[in-house]
Formats: sequence, structure tokens, C-alpha cells
Amino acid sequence: MVVGDVTTGTDVLVIGAGPGGYVAAIRAGQLGLDVTLVERDAYGGTCLNYGCIPSKALISATDVAHDAGDAEEMGIYADPAVDLQRMVEWKDGVVDQLTGGVEKLCKASGVNLVEGRAEFAGEHTARIVHGGEGQGSETIEFEHAVVSTGSRPIEVPGFEFDGEQILSSREALALDAVPASMVVVGAGYIGMELSTVYQKLGCDVTVVEMLDDVLPGYEDDVARVVRERAEALGVDFHFGQAADSWEEAGDGITVRTEDEDGEIAEFGAEKCLVAVGRQPVTDTLNLEAVGLEPNEDGFLETDHEARTDVEHVFAVGDVAGEPMLAHTASAEGEVAAEVVAGEPAALDHQAIPAAVFTDPEIGTVGMTEDEAAEAGFDPVVGQFPLRANGRALTLDERDGFVRVVGDDDSGFLLGAQVVAPEASELIAELALAVEMGAQLEDVAATIHTHPTLSEAVGEACANALGEAIHTLNR
Ligand SMILES: Cc1cc2nc3c(=O)[nH]c(=O)nc-3n(C[C@H](O)[C@H](O)[C@H](O)COP(=O)(O)OP(=O)(O)OC[C@H]3O[C@@H](n4cnc5c(N)ncnc54)[C@H](O)[C@@H]3O)c2cc1C
Repeated sequence: MVVGDVTTGTDVLVIGAGPGGYVAAIRAGQLGLDVTLVERDAYGGTCLNYGCIPSKALISATDVAHDAGDAEEMGIYADPAVDLQRMVEWKDGVVDQLTGGVEKLCKASGVNLVEGRAEFAGEHTARIVHGGEGQGSETIEFEHAVVSTGSRPIEVPGFEFDGEQILSSREALALDAVPASMVVVGAGYIGMELSTVYQKLGCDVTVVEMLDDVLPGYEDDVARVVRERAEALGVDFHFGQAADSWEEAGDGITVRTEDEDGEIAEFGAEKCLVAVGRQPVTDTLNLEAVGLEPNEDGFLETDHEARTDVEHVFAVGDVAGEPMLAHTASAEGEVAAEVVAGEPAALDHQAIPAAVFTDPEIGTVGMTEDEAAEAGFDPVVGQFPLRANGRALTLDERDGFVRVVGDDDSGFLLGAQVVAPEASELIAELALAVEMGAQLEDVAATIHTHPTLSEAVGEACANALGEAIHTLNR
């Protein structure tokens, strides 16, 4: 409800306009609720402004240059020059188009947009602080609130982000020149995606990681394909190394790391990117005022309706915990809006796909073989190597596989792991199959277009059934 320019009350107050918040707001608006969406920075949140979209734009642009310069085997001789500033401007254009779209869609759904930082002031009241000092504040009364304040990068003590030498992913996506060298602290998905980008752009990338391989949480053979490809590109990995301190050295910096025996190693570089994970933004919301307390990791715990411990307050997206993915945030945002509107809706986390846009890409959904066994299934696994797929060879790609995990008793598809070009797209078919409760046989019997990478999906399912045609059956 708007009176002049002072908002005094709303059915639903949504805090944060990332893919969790703006989707919740649009859906609530579609369902006829009076919605106010508050954003302190930029519409689209981390995803559109500093995360998924900018990183994927730079990955695609970098691949254009890298692939052209690396295609002599195909009879192509090119030496592409990269103007990073221009590439970043192009990326910003993509971001602007999408964030503008979010604003328009919100308005078209009747959502009241308020710029400012929201904090709770009472059980049904929030205070919105506008812009900088002296720009005033307003109070909004709400029936329901949806907290969708997202996450921020974790800082390693001693490596506070300065945007010059010590970068978070946000600054690493907006450099105007390719650094000669970069130390990347952390080999999770953000560290690996950006290491690949910068190595392909001609920067000497050194990755230091506390654990003993890249991409913690992924199976060994999945991580191995990605690490070996990154090594072939020239990325220098040092495992078992914890970032300890850094100092200026000539035109650059020296990053010191320590292994578990206390041995110190030193790595010189122009810049250092710290990508060791993200933490929820719950500390600036004055949560006590609404009666909420985050858990010990700072997340807001929610039930199957995205509802927190406080009946009329919901939490969606990164702030509500793993998996911290844009599409999870949006799915949760829709559920929260529908529950507020009195519709029957609930979260279903069993078939959330995830993608890592490394080279090659990774796509996963559902259970791994170990997880299926732990859950009491009798897992049967089918795998198809990329080198046996005609389309992959026409793309000059050989590394990777499609693996499916089924239940031997029932034949149901339980999960899949794909390491391949376009794995982020290939996983969609498998996510649909898991979501629909399809059997291995359903996917194996689906006629896939030839020649495509998706044939490997059908073949992997056939392989699990002992019926693969283009590879030896297990
Ligand atoms: C480099 C990078 C790459 C990524 N790549 C992918 C990918 O490929 N695929 C994928 O699924 N995910 C990816 N992610 C993760 C994805 O960005 C997040 O999971 C997603 O943005 C979470 O959405 P959200 O709505 O919960 O929060 P966010 O997108 O973080 O949005 C939260 C919003 O709340 C606002 N806000 C915070 N506090 C307040 C307040 N008090 N008042 C008003 N506004 C406030 C913030 O300004 C922000 O705009 C990536 C992240 C990064 C950093």
C-alpha cells in the first residue's frame, strides 16, 4: 500500500531482490497479494550482478578466444587478441539487460519496489534505511515477511578484500586488464571456474587449496577430469596448503601458505583471488526484533514450506542454507509466495540439479552410487565415456562421461553425474527423469537425436541395464 511516497503497510515484505526474493515477489504479486520488495544494492542480487551471469558471460567470451587459438588440429590458425575491458563492458551489457528485465517484471506484477536496506524493528514492522547518510528511512508494517538476503564471500583472516590485490569473486569479474599472474585461494567451484577463465586469458594461475583435490564434495573421477584439463591449460595446483598471510613484493604480492606439518610455502603473483566459500547475510537484519535466531553457521532454518521458526516469516535462497544455488533460491521463493497466499505448496529438494562451468562442465542431480547405497538402495551404475560419442569427437572433446545411478530392484533412476561439454544442459534431461520417477529403461528407450551429446545419456542408462550398443557393457 502506497500513500504518497510513504509506504505504510504491505501483505508481504520481501527483503532482497536476488533470484530468491524477486521470484517470491513476482509470484506473490501474481497471486494477488500486496507485495513490497526492498533491495539495498541492485535488482537480480548476486546471481545477476556478481555471480552466475557475469561469470558465465566471461567464461563464454574466454572460450571463444581460447578455442579459436587452440584449433590448429582442425586447420584453424588464429591468434586472438583479448581486450578485457571491452569483454567486461559486454558482460555488463548482458547484466543490465537482465536486471532491467527483473525490475519490469516486478512492476508488471504490481510489486512495490523500495530501494534501501531493511532491518526488522518489531514482530510485524521493518525499518528501511534509504541510500546514504541523511537520505532518511521509513517504516513498513507487514503481515508476512520473506527474508532473501543471500550470502557474501567468506574472508580468510589476514586476506581482507581490498579490491586491488586481494580480490573476491566480485572484483575478479570486473578487472579491466588481465593480470600477469594470480594466486587463487580455494579450489571449489567458484575458484575453479575463475582459474580456468584467467588461465585461458593468458594469466599464470596458481591454485592453493587446503584439501587434497579440487571441487570438494564431488566424486574423485569427476574432480579428476576437471583438474587434469586445468593442469593441461597450465594451472599450477598446490594441495594441502592453507593461506596464511601475504605481503607486498615489488609490483605484486607474495602469498604465504602453511601445510599441516607447519611448512611454509611462498607464491608470488600480481593479484590474489580468495574463493573459499560464502556465508549467509543474516547479521544486519536485527533478527531479534522479529523473534528469530540464526543457527550457529548464520543460516535461517526453514521447514518444507520455507517457513522459519516464526510463523509469519519465511526464508529462501542462500540465507536458508545449502544448496546455495540460484535455481534453488527461485524454487524456494515460489513456494514461500504460494504458502503465504494459502496455496498448497512444499519444497522438494530431491531432484535439484547443479552445474559447474569449468572445462569440461559438470552436471549432477540426485544421488551418487555411495549415497544410494547409504540410503538403502541396491545401486546399479551405467556409464558412457565421451570418447565413444560421435558428437563429442566432432567438437574435439574426449574427456568426460555420463554416469547414471539406478536402483537394481525397481529400476528407478536415482541420480546422475555428467562431465562433458554442455553438462549444464545435459543434466536437465536427467533431472526431469529423476523428478518424474522415471526408470532407467524409460531413458534408455527414449530416442535421442543423432549426433548429439545427449545420446550418451541414453547409452549410460542402457549400459546400466547391460544393453549399451556403443560401449562394452559392464
Ligand atoms: C561467482 C559466482 C558464481 C555463481 N554461479 C552460479 C551458477 O552458475 N549457478 C547457480 O545456481 N548459482 C551460482 N552462484 C550462486 C548464486 O549466485 C546464489 O545461489 C544466488 O544468487 C542466491 O540467491 P538469493 O536470492 O538467495 O541471494 P542473492 O542473489 O545474494 O540476493 C540477495 C539480495 O539481498 C540484498 N540484501 C541483503 N541484505 C539486505 C537488506 N538488509 N535489505 C535489502 N536488501 C538486502 C542484496 O543486496 C542482494 O541483492 C554463483 C555465485 C557466485 C558468487
